[in-house]
Amino acid sequence: MKNIIGAVTCTLISYAIAIFGYLLTHDIEWSDLRDVDLSDKRFLMVLVVAQTVIIWAYFFYILTLRRRNAKILKYEENRQQLLQRRYQIVIDNSREMMYEISLNNDACISTDKIREKFGWDIPKQVPDLDVRKLFEILHVHPEDESIFYNSTSGLMTNKMTKEITVRMQKADGVYIWCNIIYIPVLDSDNNMVSIVGKIEDVDKEIKEKERLEHQSRTDGLTGLMNKQTFEEEAMKFLMTSISTGSALLFIDMDYFKDVNDKFGHTMGDRAIIDIALKLQVIFANCDMVSRFGGDEFLIFVKNIPRDTLIDKLAWAVEKLKETYSDGVNTVSLSASIGVAYCMADKISYDTLLEAADNSLYAAKELGRSRYIIRDVYQ
Ligand code: GH3
Ligand code: MG
Repeated sequence: MKNIIGAVTCTLISYAIAIFGYLLTHDIEWSDLRDVDLSDKRFLMVLVVAQTVIIWAYFFYILTLRRRNAKILKYEENRQQLLQRRYQIVIDNSREMMYEISLNNDACISTDKIREKFGWDIPKQVPDLDVRKLFEILHVHPEDESIFYNSTSGLMTNKMTKEITVRMQKADGVYIWCNIIYIPVLDSDNNMVSIVGKIEDVDKEIKEKERLEHQSRTDGLTGLMNKQTFEEEAMKFLMTSISTGSALLFIDMDYFKDVNDKFGHTMGDRAIIDIALKLQVIFANCDMVSRFGGDEFLIFVKNIPRDTLIDKLAWAVEKLKETYSDGVNTVSLSASIGVAYCMADKISYDTLLEAADNSLYAAKELGRSRYIIRDVYQ
């Protein structure tokens, strides 16, 4: 409508200009217009018609052009919306939680799954995105800050895909282990235009792995370190640290079979658990307490003065004395302890174990419920 009014106005103005131009150039008054030559009148009419045709043709051309542009714009808008919808469908239906942070217009796209899983959402706008902001957006555990920073800083400079496993906090405060993958999206000039991210909940897998790892390192009955782990840890210490003044203790309970025989295997198990608890009390701090198997325990005491060690051994022999009775049967349990005491560094684990075993044998031979220390020099 606006265009039609414009065209009519322009036409009228152009008529007026043509007529006034004619009057001025022929020096004729407005009132004498009727008296002009017929040939001039024809000329004026042709001029006016030609102007009308040109103006209207021009306006129709502009109108068509505008309509065409509007159509193209609408089509492009629809195409973008469709692409966006398709993208959203893909990210919403994938097993992982996905998001994209555009670095050009600060806009973020993320799946609803992130809100469902964590109780928070990736903000729709993130101006001036940097590593710190990404760290906060993803609610990463403060203890995983260095892993996150080291890998993500690389992403900004190297523009390489990164994958890290960190703990991310849920709205209820609980942290869960997640795999975060960032894929930088580069334009044709190799500028990073956005980061496509994928978050995968791997909490169950990591916790199961930790549980299995813990299980493989501990004794099932007592929860103490098992024989293999103890051996590894003790060897590591002997080879890498000053071990003079450290001691390896080999403990074997006396007459333990009697507990099983008189009170049953379950009672025997309970007695083993009780012994483990007592040993953990006596040899707390940095000492390593392990179950060697059966009624035998191995303890590694790091850098202990001989007097203190002797006090501990006397305490252990007393504390491990226990009497079990059901009114009919009575079993008095006690412990024999063989000790290998390091008088030098870099003594091998096997040498210490053999010396502790020999001391234990001697303690048994001498009547049990006692400790014997053997100094080892090399
Ligand atoms: P000694 O004074 O010579 O050490 O005699 P002992 O009766 O303690 O016999 P020994 O140390 O040779 O044998 C340990 C016994 O501990 C053998 C077995 O009956 C028992 N035993 C080993 N492992 C377990 C276990 O896991 N649970 C229970 N209840 N008993 C165990
Ligand atoms: Mg025994």
